[in-house]
Amino acid sequence: MKIGFCGLGNMGAPMAANLAAAGHTVKGFDPASPCPDGVAAAVNTGDAAKDADVVITMLPNGDIAKAVAREVLDAMTPGTVLLDCSTIDVDSARAIAAMAAEKSIGALDAPVSGGVGGAAAGTLTFMVGGDAAAFATAQPLFDIMGQKAVHCGDAGNGQAAKICNNMILGATMIATCEAFALADKLGLDRQSMFDVVSTSSGYSWTMNAYCPAPGIGPASPADNDYQPGFAADLMLKDLRLSQQAAASVDADTPMGARAETLYAEFVEREDGAGKDFSAMLPRFEKRGRS
Ligand code: NAD
Repeated sequence: MKIGFCGLGNMGAPMAANLAAAGHTVKGFDPASPCPDGVAAAVNTGDAAKDADVVITMLPNGDIAKAVAREVLDAMTPGTVLLDCSTIDVDSARAIAAMAAEKSIGALDAPVSGGVGGAAAGTLTFMVGGDAAAFATAQPLFDIMGQKAVHCGDAGNGQAAKICNNMILGATMIATCEAFALADKLGLDRQSMFDVVSTSSGYSWTMNAYCPAPGIGPASPADNDYQPGFAADLMLKDLRLSQQAAASVDADTPMGARAETLYAEFVEREDGAGKDFSAMLPRFEKRGRS
C-alpha cells in the first residue's frame, strides 16, 4: 500500500518504520521529528496524504488531530482510509469520522496500548472504532504494527475502550501502591505481600505484571528507578480524557475522578513529571494520612 504518516514522534516513528520495513511505501511528515529509515520525507501533511491508500496519524491531542485530519482529508481520494492512532477525546474522534464521511473517506479511531516498546517491536494492541470496511482495509497494517486489533464498533468506540481501560489501570495502580505503603507500615514485607496478593483476590495487572515495588515480581520500571515505561504524565492525560468523556455523558466515575486528582497532584505539584506511573509507590511511602 501507499501510506501517508503524520506524526513521527516516540510512537509514530517506529510504527512508520515497521510499515516501511514490511514493504509498504511510506511518506511521512512531522514538523519537529525526523523521518525514520525507509520513510520518505513529505513537505507537509497534504503531501504525505496525496495518492495514499491509507493515511495514519499519531499526534499529541484532539485539536491537533482534527486540524491534521482537515488537511489530509483535502488531499485524499474517496474510498481511501484515514487511520488515527492518537489517544484523543471521543468527541474529536467522532468529529473526524464525520468530516471523513462527507468526503466518502473511511475513518478509524485506533488508539494503542503497548507504549514505545510495543511500537518498536510491532506488538501494539489497537482498539478500533469505525466502519467494518475501513477496518478490513487497515487489518494488514494492524498485523504489522501490532499483535492484536479489536474492532469495538462505531466511530469513537476505540477511544472509549482506551480511556475505560486506562481509568481502571490508573485507579488500580493507586490502590496497589497505597496497599504496599500500608503493608510497609504494618511491618509486612513486600515479598510476602506480593506472594499473597498476586495469587489472591486482590491480584491485578499492576501487581502481577507491573509490580510497583522494586525487586519484587517480574522486571518492571520500578526496577529501573521508575524510568518510564508508561509515564505518569500520559496516565494523567488519559485520566483527564476519561473524566471529560464521563462529564459529556453524565456518567458517575468517583474512582476515576480521584485517580485524576492524585495523578495531577503528583505530576503538576510534586515530582512525578517524567517518572513512570508506578512511582506512586515512593510517593505514598513518604506520606502520612493528612
Ligand atoms: P510525541 O510527542 O513523541 O509525538 C507526537 C508527534 O506529533 C511529535 O513528533 C510532533 O512534532 C508531531 N506533530 C505535532 N503537530 C503535528 C502536525 N501538525 N503534523 C504532523 N506532526 C505533528 O508523542 P508520542 O509519545 O509519540 O504519542 C503519540 C500519541 O500516542 C499520543 O496521543 C499519546 O497519548 C499516544 N500514546 C503514547 C504512548 C507512549 O507510551 N508514548 C502510549 C500509548 C499511546
